[in-house]
Amino acid sequence: MNVRHSISELSFDELHTKLEQWGHSRYRAGQLIGWLYKHNAVSFDLMSNLPKQLIAQLSEEYDCCSLSVVKTITSGEGTVKYLFQTVDGQYIEGVSMPDGDLRHTVCISTQIGCPWGCLFCASGKHGFVRNLSVGEIVDQVRLMSSNQPISNIVIMGGGEPLMNFKQLEAAYRIFTDDAAYAIGKRRVSVSTAGYVPGIEQLIRSDIRPQLAVSLHAPTDDKRSQVLPINHKYPINKLMETCKKYAQLSRRPVSFEYIVIPGFNNGDDDARALVKLLKKYPAKINLIPLNPVEGFSYRCPTEEEVYEFQSMLLSAGFVVTIRWSKGQDIGAACGQLRSAQSQSDL
Ligand code: SF4
Repeated sequence: MNVRHSISELSFDELHTKLEQWGHSRYRAGQLIGWLYKHNAVSFDLMSNLPKQLIAQLSEEYDCCSLSVVKTITSGEGTVKYLFQTVDGQYIEGVSMPDGDLRHTVCISTQIGCPWGCLFCASGKHGFVRNLSVGEIVDQVRLMSSNQPISNIVIMGGGEPLMNFKQLEAAYRIFTDDAAYAIGKRRVSVSTAGYVPGIEQLIRSDIRPQLAVSLHAPTDDKRSQVLPINHKYPINKLMETCKKYAQLSRRPVSFEYIVIPGFNNGDDDARALVKLLKKYPAKINLIPLNPVEGFSYRCPTEEEVYEFQSMLLSAGFVVTIRWSKGQDIGAACGQLRSAQSQSDL
C-alpha cells in the first residue's frame, strides 16, 4: 500500500530538493514554507501564488496536514483545548492559551499515551501507543495558530518529549526558523519527567530549548511514589545532568513542583527542597494539583500554595505559581483524550 505522508514531515532542505526534482525554481519552496508555517494553510488549494502544476504534484503525493480537529472546548477565560485525530485514528491533545494580543502560548504533545504512568497524570493511564512524527508535532501548532500567531510553545502535553528526540529536534528547528514561526529559542520549553538519557542527548545536540523538569518531591522515597521514572533515574543523577544542561544553555532549569496537600507541601518538604536545589541553578514553578480520576489526593487551597511558596521564597529562590488555565474544561494533560478513547470503545 502506498502510504501518503504529510508535507510537514519534510525538513526545509528536503522541501527544496523535492521541488527542484519536480523542476520548480528554488523560491517556490520558500513560498510553500510561507504558506505552511506563516499562513498555516491546511489545503494546497489555498496556496494561490503557486503554479497549478505544483499544486497538483503536491496534492498527488502528500497530505497538507497530518491531523484533523475532532473537538475544541473553550473555557471562560479563553483557553481552548483541542482534541486532534491522527490518520491512523489515534487521539492527541493540544491547548491554546491566548493572553492579550501579544502572547499566545500553545501546549503540544509528542507521544500517543506515555510509558511512564505518573500517578497524577491522565496521559499515562492507558500506557504508551507510539511516538508522534515531526509532522504530527508541528501540525498541532499549525492548527492552533489559525486565530492568533504563536509567541511561546510548551512541549508538555501528552508523552515524554525526550523519548522522541529526533522528531522533537526537527520540530524545534521549524518552530525557531525565521522562514517559519521564528519563535525565540527561549520561548520553546521542553518538559521532562526526568528522562536522563534524553537530557544527555539534548546536551550533545545543538538545540537549546528551556528545560523544565517535573520534580514534584524533594526525596527519592517520595518522588518514586508518584513518578515511577524515579526508580530508574533517581534525583542525584537527574540533578547532575540538569546542572550540565544549565551550564551549557546558560539558563537555570525550571523545576516543576505539583503541590499535593498532605504529601509534599509540609515544612520538612520545603526544607528538603531548599537543601536539594540550592546547589543548582534553578527556578521553581509551583503547580496546584488538578483533579485526576483515580488519584486520591485533593487539590490544594490557594492559601496552602502561597504558604509553600513563601517558605521557598524566604530561602532566596525564584518561585512562580502556575494557576491552572482551563480547569473548567478539563485542560489537565490527557483528560480529553482519555474521555474520547473511552467513548470510542
Ligand atoms: S506526567 Fe508526563 S511523563 Fe508522566 S505520565 Fe504524564 S505525560 Fe507521561
